Amino acid sequence: MSELKCTWCGATVEAEDGYRLAEPAGARRAVFCRLEHVVPWAIQGPKWEAGEIEEPKAIEDSLDRCAHCEQPLDETRILLVRHRGEHRIPDAFCSVEHAAEWAKAGGRWR
Ligand SMILES: [Zn+2]
Ligand SMILES: [Zn+2]
Repeated sequence: MSELKCTWCGATVEAEDGYRLAEPAGARRAVFCRLEHVVPWAIQGPKWEAGEIEEPKAIEDSLDRCAHCEQPLDETRILLVRHRGEHRIPDAFCSVEHAAEWAKAGGRWR
């Protein structure tokens, strides 16, 4: 299991915790210790790491609408996956901006 660091604040993110954000079409990704850290990261001009997130393909296929604006998504979508224990809780977005808006509003639990 590799140790990850939050792309925004540098805190250690455990494999079974935190959030993974990815733009599969651009083969780039970011890691966050908390959902709130997506917001300043997006505002400052997102800095990506090269690479893909390791998620089963089945998760992606179930995500065809933006969780924020409900627009149908194409292959340029953004994926945000929450890791909680062995659970993977995915959401998809039309843009980084909408992922940040959604995070700002409290995510799934607003
Ligand atoms: Zn952080
Ligand atoms: Zn959207």
